[in-house]
Amino acid sequence: MIAEIISIGTELLLGDILNTNAQYLSRRLADLGIDLYHQSVVGDNGERLKEELERAYSRSNLIIATGGLGPTKDDLTKEIGAEYFNKPMELHEESYKILSEHFQRLNRELTENNVKQVYFPVGSIILPNPFGTAPGCIIEDDGKILILLPGPPKENIPMFENHVVPYLNKLTTHTFISKTLRICGIGESMVATKINHIIDEQSNPTVAPYAKDSEVTLRITAKAKNKEEGYNLIAPMEKAIQKILGDNIYGTDEDTLEGVVGKLLIDNKLTLAVAESCTGGLLSGRLVNYPGISNAVIDGCVTYSNDAKVKRLGVKEATLEKYGAVSEEIAKEMAEGVAKTSGAAVGISTTGIAGPGGGSEEKPVGLVYVGIHIKGKTFVKKLQLSGSRQTIRERTVTFTLDWLRRKLLSLYI
Ligand code: ATP
Ligand code: MG
Repeated sequence: MIAEIISIGTELLLGDILNTNAQYLSRRLADLGIDLYHQSVVGDNGERLKEELERAYSRSNLIIATGGLGPTKDDLTKEIGAEYFNKPMELHEESYKILSEHFQRLNRELTENNVKQVYFPVGSIILPNPFGTAPGCIIEDDGKILILLPGPPKENIPMFENHVVPYLNKLTTHTFISKTLRICGIGESMVATKINHIIDEQSNPTVAPYAKDSEVTLRITAKAKNKEEGYNLIAPMEKAIQKILGDNIYGTDEDTLEGVVGKLLIDNKLTLAVAESCTGGLLSGRLVNYPGISNAVIDGCVTYSNDAKVKRLGVKEATLEKYGAVSEEIAKEMAEGVAKTSGAAVGISTTGIAGPGGGSEEKPVGLVYVGIHIKGKTFVKKLQLSGSRQTIRERTVTFTLDWLRRKLLSLYI
């Protein structure tokens, strides 16, 4: 089976929106072991869409098209699909019932253009859409399969996962099961070197490293008859990698660094306060990504000026004068100060030169100090980072979270 994706929408062609559906679907098709050699984007234009379908079926037999299922005139994907396969449209009673109940609940009139959303080419498999008004559908005809999904990702993704994946699994004799190991504090090439022998000997499962935003992921993929067999194949390789990389692995699959740190704090009943200078709120922002963090983070301040560091955190003016704001001593006083003034068990701090200006020979751009005050002791790390202002700030945040994670593991586990 060879798949192809057609993304439909003039907004995509004009660059108004990013084609995240194509990215998502391509990745998932790869997970499922389905070959994909082409994808294309076409505007809301019937002629060109039909042309694209013809071209696509000349080289592929499974087409997934996204967008253009809605109520407006420019939503014409289903109609063109029906024309291509020479199938008349018919009303799908069950979807009509759901749609009219929806409109009744909203106290809105069910107009004709809305009813268009529940007409499908005769013989289609209907894919329900609990997150929107336009159901999707699958048309099968003489070895050709056309899967039509709605454009909005919050409708498209659940429809694909809940209805299309089980459908595709039935068409293939095997499935691909993946597990992602999330790694921090060690670079991609070092990870690859350390597990080189595993990479060399791999067959099923396979393992591939990826690097993104100062984190590395290892994706282990097994080809198997079912999920259970897949996970059984993955387990020994995961164990072997775990043995080599140890604490550098902070989590798996959907875990996030801030989530892992948040959980460690909450499980150990620790409160946290954050004092930020160069990261300007980014560190607190990352922590707050984790739902439930309010049980741990009790305070956070962006003390950008010297004055704020003195007033809010009790940093000593003499220390500022002697060592400057970007120094080991100030990172220490900031972490201690924020813990003290907030009453938190743990205080963390960042101070540095994010650039592009403000650097000197003695204190170049990218020089950052990070402080952790925990269990009555204060630790400071000096970092020399590179990259743009944004990159330096993001790397500082990732480093701080990872270092805090390691401290919590060593002190509390
Ligand atoms: P609707 O019922 O909302 O009209 P639709 O199935 O007709 O849905 P479109 O009208 O093509 O879909 O797109 C609706 C919205 O979905 C777009 O404005 C855009 O925000 C989002 N969208 C569409 N296609 C994509 C895509 N390929 N990637 C990401 N977002 C998309
Ligand atoms: Mg639309």
